Amino acid sequence: MVDYSLRRRAVLADVHAARTGLLEVCDATPYLSRAATFHGEVIEASCPVCRKQRLARVNYVYGDGLGTVAGQAKTAAELARMDAMQEEFAVYEVEVCRSCGWNHLDCSYLLGSEPVPGQPRRTRRRAVTD
Ligand SMILES: [Zn+2]
Repeated sequence: MVDYSLRRRAVLADVHAARTGLLEVCDATPYLSRAATFHGEVIEASCPVCRKQRLARVNYVYGDGLGTVAGQAKTAAELARMDAMQEEFAVYEVEVCRSCGWNHLDCSYLLGSEPVPGQPRRTRRRAVTD
């Protein structure tokens, strides 16, 4: 599990100190906003920038074994299903404000199992190394 909360705090501190413009951090693309609406899970936290709306969390999946699914947004239920059926793939959790467009990569981790020849598939979780 790679946690990006320190970077998030640093970005927000810059926003509040006006060292970073809102246009730079509230730059969710129409595609991301749509993914947040249709595939996002609304979480407890409200937007740290505009405080108008609760944040939505979107899970993007990436992996060589995913084919055309790579780069798509998936719900938690879909991730659980993929975890059981797919080879190893990476999940990137992004928080999005559907009001002002704030977005931030929260964390990334691996799901799925790596097939081992001659052994049953095993599920494991480990941090994405970057
Ligand atoms: Zn906002």
